[in-house]
Amino acid sequence: MQVLDESGKVLELTEAWRRAGERIGFVPTMGALHAGHQALLARARTENTRVVISIFVNPTQFDRPDDFRTYPQDLPRDLRRAEEAGCDLAWTPPVLQMYPPGPPTVVEVTGLSSILEGAARPGHFRGVATVVTKLFHVVRAHRAYFGAKDWQQAIIVRRLVADLKMEPEIVICPTVRELDGLALSSRNVNLTPEERRAAPVLFQALSWGAGEIRAGRRDPEALRRGIGARIAAATAAPLDYIAVIRPETLEPLLAAGPPVLLALAIRFSRARLIDNVLVEA
Ligand code: AMP
Repeated sequence: MQVLDESGKVLELTEAWRRAGERIGFVPTMGALHAGHQALLARARTENTRVVISIFVNPTQFDRPDDFRTYPQDLPRDLRRAEEAGCDLAWTPPVLQMYPPGPPTVVEVTGLSSILEGAARPGHFRGVATVVTKLFHVVRAHRAYFGAKDWQQAIIVRRLVADLKMEPEIVICPTVRELDGLALSSRNVNLTPEERRAAPVLFQALSWGAGEIRAGRRDPEALRRGIGARIAAATAAPLDYIAVIRPETLEPLLAAGPPVLLALAIRFSRARLIDNVLVEA
């Protein structure tokens, strides 16, 4: 596996691969790699002839400085994991290369970026759209892989790619979970032991909601109440939102007929977690 930090070198290599007829799969990450990231890399490995990972803790997508400061980082370990997963190239850009001094260019997908996670984390999706645009212009990928756990992010990136006529097909991969159902997340290490014991209730409550929809229940308010009550029975941590929405557009539903995405965000003491479940048509 090659490790490069300079964008010019990455572009040179990915252009050479394209000229040679290679198909490039790309997995953007912020490091702290876990089995969720590895599943994206494994999928990219099966569908492409070259696999590229970027490891970059993107400062502009953090809405809170302390979240950025405490974000887990271990580059040597991440590079080992990327290599094990069959990556051909790891790109580790320095912050100053991605964000040179002076007033920056920003990219924003309006509308979709101001609801749900965007409402709770002002500027977050502007940071995501801006960095993904830069990453996509350097890694000339045919496909880019995103996790369903960050569903809103994946939908925003799809819209970004369509609007700016960028190339990669956006592939959304299923959420990888612990055996007890908790979605893997780099932020899970910040849960207290008690919060960690309660956290599987998120997936349990969402799965209950999905079961209700499959059984023909359609009232979004009743679904929200049922999900909220199940979570409140396990933890006092406040919920930011429980959303019953159309997966492709993120529009709230008046009647929860599939396809439906049930999504939520909760504030534990030192970790804000999100999760969702898709009920397909
Ligand atoms: P991050 O490093 O947290 O920015 O995540 C990089 C990519 O990994 C994003 O596309 C995430 O949606 C995806 N990802 C994070 N956690 C999981 C998970 N538990 N299962 C599947 N994909 C995930």
